Order: sequence, then C-alpha cells, then structure tokens
Amino acid sequence: MRVAVLKVDNCQPKKCNDECHAFCPPVRNGQECIVMDTKTGKPHISESLCIGCGICINKCPHDALIIEQLPEELETDMIHRYSMNGFRLFRLPTPSKDQVVGILGPNGMGKSTAFNALSGRLVPNLGDWKGEADWDSVIATLPRGELRDFLVEVKEGRISVAVKPQNVDRLPQRVKGKVGDLLRKVDERGLFDELTVALGIDHLLEREIGQLSGGELQRMAMGATLLRDADVYFLDEPSSYLDIHERMRIVRIVQKLAAERRVIVIEHDLAVLDVLADLVHIVYGTKGAFGIFTPARATRTAINAYLDGFLPEQNVRIRDKPIAFLGHRDRKVEAGAPVVSWGDLEKQLGSFKLEAGEGAVHRAEVVGVVGPNGTGKSTMIKILAGEHEYDAGWVSDDAKISYKPQHLDLDMDGTVQLWLDSELGPRWRSGEFNVNVIRALGVDQLLPKRVRKLSGGERQCVAIAICLGREADVYLLDEPSAHLDASARMEAAKAIRRTMETNEKAAFVIDHDVYFIDIVSDSLLVFEGEGGVHGRAEGPFELREGMNRFLSGVNITFRRDHESKRPRINKSESRKDREQRNAGDYYSYSA
Ligand code: ADP
Ligand code: ADP
Ligand code: SF4
Repeated sequence: MRVAVLKVDNCQPKKCNDECHAFCPPVRNGQECIVMDTKTGKPHISESLCIGCGICINKCPHDALIIEQLPEELETDMIHRYSMNGFRLFRLPTPSKDQVVGILGPNGMGKSTAFNALSGRLVPNLGDWKGEADWDSVIATLPRGELRDFLVEVKEGRISVAVKPQNVDRLPQRVKGKVGDLLRKVDERGLFDELTVALGIDHLLEREIGQLSGGELQRMAMGATLLRDADVYFLDEPSSYLDIHERMRIVRIVQKLAAERRVIVIEHDLAVLDVLADLVHIVYGTKGAFGIFTPARATRTAINAYLDGFLPEQNVRIRDKPIAFLGHRDRKVEAGAPVVSWGDLEKQLGSFKLEAGEGAVHRAEVVGVVGPNGTGKSTMIKILAGEHEYDAGWVSDDAKISYKPQHLDLDMDGTVQLWLDSELGPRWRSGEFNVNVIRALGVDQLLPKRVRKLSGGERQCVAIAICLGREADVYLLDEPSAHLDASARMEAAKAIRRTMETNEKAAFVIDHDVYFIDIVSDSLLVFEGEGGVHGRAEGPFELREGMNRFLSGVNITFRRDHESKRPRINKSESRKDREQRNAGDYYSYSA
C-alpha cells in the first residue's frame, strides 16, 4: 500500500516552481499522478498512479512530501484518514477494565486522533475520507472482543471521558482563579478532600492558578481530571514537572483509579511507565503521515522491544540503534580542569534556605541534578552562574551561563529559522553543531514552522538547541526531557553530552526521568530537604553513589532488567526492595 502525504504547513506554492509536478515521471508520461489544486496551488497526489520513485520528495524545496510503502495487510486496519493526502491512523488502543493501559511512542502519530475516536468525538471513516462515516461500519470491521464491545458503547453514547491534557504549562492562560475553587466546581465524584490530600495539593487551595509551579500545575490538572465522573480517563503525560516522589504518588493514584474505571496513559518516562502500566500499546509510524498502534503487550516486553528498536511481531525496525544503559565500569572517570567550584554556600530566599557543601564541575562533564521539587536546584545553579548573590561561602570566578528554563513561554510570532538566527547568528547552519544538535534533535525539520504553532516537544527541542548553541562556560538545562518522547530524550541526552565533549564545556541537567539522568550524566549533584522550606546540595558524586544517595532519600530501589539491563523500579516492600534497602543498594547494577 502506497501512502502519499502532503505536509500542509511546509508546502508553500508561492515560494516554489511546482517542482513535484514538473519532475514526477508519471506526470511527464501524461498521467495525472500529481494535480495542482487551482485554488490553493498545492498538489494532490494519486497513490494509485504514484510509482514511489521519490523524486518529488527530493525536488520539493520545502520538504513537504512523504511517500512511503506500507505492508498491504495494513490496508484493512486503517481506522481513519483525514483527507486524500492527509494523516492516517491504523488500529486503535483498547481501553481495558481493571488494567492501566499505556501508550508508548512519539507524539504526532495520532494518539489524539485515537482518543477522539475512542471518546466518540470523531467517527472514524476507515480511510474513506469522502464518504459518510458511521459507527456500524467501524464496529463491523473489528473482531469480537473488548475494543468492539467498547465501541458499541461509544456508539450508543454510553461512554463519558475525561482528558488530562499534555501541556499543563498553558493552563494559566486558559483558567483563572483559585485552585480550590476550580477543583470544587468539577468534583463530580465527591472526592475533593481525599484527592487533594493524595495529590499533595491540599495546601495550595487558596493559591491563584497563575502562581503555580510546573509540578503544582500538573497535580492540579490531574486533580481536575480525576474528580470528574467518567468511564474512561485519558492521561497525557502525567509525570512532566513532577519529582520522582510525586511521580510515584501519581502511580499509586492512577492504579487505584484503574480498579474502578478504564485508564489510558501516555507516558514517556519509561521507569514510571514500567511500574504504572499493566499493558502497553506501542505506536510507530512517520510523524504527520501515519501512525500504527500495535496490539497491547505486557509492559516489560513492550518497553524492552521499544528500547531495542525492533518490534518482532510486526517485524519492524523503529530506530537504527538500541537505547543502551551503561554499567558503572563503562563510564569515563577522567575529568578536565574545573570550570566552577564552590564551598559552604548559604542562601536565604524569603522563608526558604539553601545550603551546599563543597564541589566542582569540570570541563567536558555533565552533572545530573536531582532532588525533590522546591529544594533549590535552580537557585543553586544560578548562584554558580553569578546570577544570584549568596549569603555565605565561596564560588570560584563567575562562569558565563547559557540557561534553558523549565517553562518555555514563547509568545513570538516568527518562524523557528528566524528564532535560531536571532539567538545564534549564522553558526547553527553548519559544522558539528548542525549535525550533533540541530539535525539530531530534528530541529532542521521545523525551520519553516511558526514558533507559536510548535507542539510542546518541538518547542523543547528548539529551546535545547538554542541553549547548547550559545557561547558559554556552563550550560544549565532545566527539565529538558519534558514533552519529549522516550527516543527524543535519548537523542537530547546524546546531543548534550556531545556538545560538552566537543567544546570542553560543563553542563548541569536538572531532570526527574531516571533513564534520562542515567544516560546524560557523568556525575550527580544531589539535593535533599523539604520543598519550599530548606534544601541542601551534596556532590557531585560518581553516578552510582549519587543515585544511591538520591534514591535512599525518596526510598525507592531499582534493580536491572536481566535482558535489556535497564533500571526497573522495585515494587515497594517486595522481597527485592527490602533486600536492596537493607544492603543500601538503591541503584543496583544486578538483576
Ligand atoms: P498526536 O496526538 O499523536 O500528536 P494527532 O492525532 O494530534 O497526533 O495528529 C496526528 C496527525 O494528524 C498530525 O499530523 C495532524 O496534523 C493530523 N491531524 C490532526 N487533526 C487533524 C484534522 N482535523 N484534519 C487534518 N489533519 C489532522
Ligand atoms: P527547584 O529548582 O529545586 O525546584 P528552586 O531553586 O526553583 O527549586 O526554588 C527553591 C525554593 O525557593 C522554592 O520554594 C521557591 O519558592 C523559593 N524561591 C525561589 N526564588 C525565590 C525568590 N526570589 N523569593 C522567594 N523565594 C524564592
Ligand atoms: Fe510522482 Fe510518486 Fe515519484 Fe512523487 S514519488 S514524483 S508522486 S511518482
């Protein structure tokens, strides 16, 4: 089956010479393989006449075409197609009773389309975009089973849904008022008191929504979703901005919910997905062109296949190389000259007090910064960069810092290309930076897009690229993993490491995704304390020692998967958990 997709945003007929039409071999032979629309000037591509030569893809100056060959057997699995050369979705995930169903894969592959279908907001057209869509045809194509039964209920209007949106950072622009007022209004299940305590937001009820931090917004959004009385809950990235302790709290709340209602979760923190989900659908395909949901599999098998980059049942490679985890002996130990050093720091900010022991970061070193929210991680790094005064202690000479904040409030009108030019000048266009960062993060694909229209993940990639592209001694990236899918996180980790190694600079990476921290860090700066009250920084330590300190503070143990060697969170109070805690081995390198 041939799939020809036009990326409508990229296609700019006023800025080209209809190269796709001019060079298409069937067109040259008199066939109407590509017909230019008389109104929009954009091409309509006939999939039956296209021979898949790929010439139009290469000739298009704006990279607007995708032509791919898919296995014929998928034809009957097409659930929806937006238009002749629009995005198409194959198969659907199944909301299951008594089980948390996870979705693993990049954004832009149709999960919102799938949610809309499962919630009844979109009647799938099974690929016939010109015809009248109807539920009976959809139901008739499905084999007997849970999904079919579920869609019968959807058709009959018996299913209600509640959705936790991905971009909680945009909530303050849309909702105003006090947290408590908002939550009381949506409390259809009468669980206000229980849930605000369980989410740890009971002390924020009088706070204005506009004053909340990212993690607080996330927990409020979870509260607002779970208080609704729905049959199915779609939770899109519930862990962003939460520290690991809060992530585990969400895991418990969602698992409890799944005992009564259906829950589907999109989660890119694989350590969290691993403990949270019972079953996982992997979604793969080509961004903006097509997305294919695999049947659900046991979580461990699905995550291992995803990391390996190969789906054996589908016989499909989804990534060139596996994502691999290093044992502690494989890590480099040598460090360059110090870039910044500090000792006995103290800083009072309102009622919050930060303290730090003695430490240093070196050239070509990436320091992972971990610890609970509100314990002063950002404050400390800004002190090291000379952006904040300190009350006591010492810091070596100010180092110049390039900073990527956690929140990317970018209300700018121009294109990504313009943004890069204005921030970095011409140097992003070529050389190692272009290869290691711009292309590796897929920013080259976003150049004509308007910054305002970028998705959360796309904005994150551009912001990381800009941070790494600036001239500085120290790079501070605050939660670079937010909104990136698991593969993109690994690409970002590699881009950060390569930039530091190539330029012999140092980076601090604040993040809560343990897989990401494991892959990006040479060493760990560990924060302990109570959020908003006091924080103490120790380190940087060697990675394993740092992880041990950090995880003992949050009382979570990790073992290793015997096949993939990835870290896996132990079930609390399981035999392994107790054994490892007793031995002080919170981040074990053995299975
Ligand atoms: P995800 O939620 O995984 O990011 P979506 O389901 O939102 O993916 O979108 C998948 C693709 O479908 C995108 O390329 C998007 O442009 C396209 N798409 C989404 N909604 C529409 C629509 N109403 N009309 C045409 N194309 C759409
Ligand atoms: P983290 O990065 O670990 O989440 P931060 O360094 O952002 O923590 O903040 C630590 C604490 O300091 C928070 O409780 C925050 O509310 C408080 N804080 C930060 N800046 C100020 C300020 N300018 N005035 C008063 N309190 C502040
Ligand atoms: Fe024409 Fe298809 Fe070749 Fe594109 S890939 S030039 S549409 S035949």
